[in-house]
Amino acid sequence: MKNNFDFCIAGGGVMGTFFAYHLLHLGYKVVLCERDTKAKEATVRNFGQIVPSGLSKEWRKLGRKSLEFYKSVQQETDISIRAFGSLYVASNEEEEILLEELYQINLEEGYTSQLLNKESCLNKQPALNPNYVRAGLFYPEEITVEPHLMIHALQKYMIKKFSNFKLHYNTTIQQINEGSAKVELRTNTDETIYCKHFILCSGNEFQTLFPHLFEQSELVLTKIQMMQTKPVKNKSIKGSILTGETIRRYEAFTECPSFEAIKKAAPKESFWKKYGIHILLKQAKDGSLILGDSHEYASVKERDKLDFNQNMDINRFVIKETQRAFDLPEIIIQKYWSGSYVQCKTSDVYINHLTDKIHVYNGIGGKGMTASAGFTYQQTQKLWRQ
Ligand SMILES: Cc1cc2nc3c(=O)[nH]c(=O)nc-3n(C[C@H](O)[C@H](O)[C@H](O)COP(=O)(O)OP(=O)(O)OC[C@H]3O[C@@H](n4cnc5c(N)ncnc54)[C@H](O)[C@@H]3O)c2cc1C
Repeated sequence: MKNNFDFCIAGGGVMGTFFAYHLLHLGYKVVLCERDTKAKEATVRNFGQIVPSGLSKEWRKLGRKSLEFYKSVQQETDISIRAFGSLYVASNEEEEILLEELYQINLEEGYTSQLLNKESCLNKQPALNPNYVRAGLFYPEEITVEPHLMIHALQKYMIKKFSNFKLHYNTTIQQINEGSAKVELRTNTDETIYCKHFILCSGNEFQTLFPHLFEQSELVLTKIQMMQTKPVKNKSIKGSILTGETIRRYEAFTECPSFEAIKKAAPKESFWKKYGIHILLKQAKDGSLILGDSHEYASVKERDKLDFNQNMDINRFVIKETQRAFDLPEIIIQKYWSGSYVQCKTSDVYINHLTDKIHVYNGIGGKGMTASAGFTYQQTQKLWRQ
């Protein structure tokens, strides 16, 4: 009977782990299977910016719910949360208008934000370049995590806290047989797991389970290039900083009355647009800066178009634009990497209940670290609250 569970979840990234977290809180017996020695994909390769402020209205709510979960776990154990807020920085009049309009929306919604003039922005973040900054919008409740630490610390905490939880690394769910009462799962280690419900949160792994389903879906793979500088001396940057192009890119701003007109007036072709670049920055605990990012896309069928190489033109451009927005000493890069997340063409997330026992969740896109905790809470409450 030891391999009998209420729920088996395949995929130990942020989505699968928070599904497990909420189901355990509902009192279920849960096993989480991760194919690698530990989570190695999007969940550990990202910025770690937990920024509900950038999301569309419905997802802002879920992102804010996530903040509650992150903060409540952090009170019990260190999962690397730092609570220094997020600052959007406008560099011209159009971006400033959008910040003012989003501030009004936040007031109506009751989400705390503060409009800052140039001087207050520079007081808050002295590393910004005075020639770049025109105004800012600050969200004091938002947080950052260290992606390479957070998920492992959270999983460790769950193992300690819940006696009805099992976590298996190096375990790929390879085959599924559905019976009338149970789902039977075969693993790469030749084990059989029985469960009442199976949830697949496999991120960018499309080959092992349901390859045809994924190939025919509207899922799109997005490759992102990132980099980390060597520790920067005498510069302290707190929280997440999101600069001008982000204001033109993030969904929240599409709700602003002036957004469409400002978008129309922007140049149709540019290097920014070609590679979906915007400049985000965060300082890691050791003083190094995490910089990015860019976006390149391919359908699941054509995913081989996104190779593992670094396009150095993108990296040089990101460094040059970072130097325009920030007053920094020479930027010395110690690490480049890329990661990929999965998003949907026309919807915000991919949900497919293949049967009443087999459920596929994917495609949460670039908001997975921010919204997964709140989203999986919403789903578990709706579908499985006892
Ligand atoms: C460079 C980059 C920067 C980003 N920055 C941010 C940010 O600042 N803020 C934000 O909110 N979001 C950000 N994101 C998005 C966020 O990281 C993703 O949305 C999120 O991590 C997706 O989580 P996931 O659990 O769906 O997928 P993944 O992290 O890919 O996890 C899926 C897991 O499933 C496992 N798996 C697959 N198949 C099986 C199987 N059959 N059996 C067992 N295990 C299996 C894989 O090994 C993997 O560990 C960023 C993403 C990238 C790439």
